[in-house]
Amino acid sequence: MEQQKVLLTGGNLLQAHTWKGLLETSGIGVDLRGEALMGGVGELPVDMQTVELWIDAEHLPAAKNLLANLDVVHPQWQCVQCNEVNDGSFELCWQCSSPRSEQHN
Ligand SMILES: [Zn+2]
Repeated sequence: MEQQKVLLTGGNLLQAHTWKGLLETSGIGVDLRGEALMGGVGELPVDMQTVELWIDAEHLPAAKNLLANLDVVHPQWQCVQCNEVNDGSFELCWQCSSPRSEQHN
């Protein structure tokens, strides 16, 4: 059995599946683990879910590179009020001060 390492922890199930898809597109197999997958998902608020991405140890550096390039830890978001694109570390739109609320195109 190959040795696996946690690539990252946190985020929600939706994000985790997005990252998993990106990594698998690059040929890196990913296992999702975490309490959000154990059932009862509907009972937990999204921000209470913890999802872990596990990958083979040999792929860890490449995967970290990929995710760093994608800036997944602080993804940018687009303000629904003024369409300004904000850095993921901001909780308010820097232009119009609207609370963070992402566009879904
Ligand atoms: Zn705005």
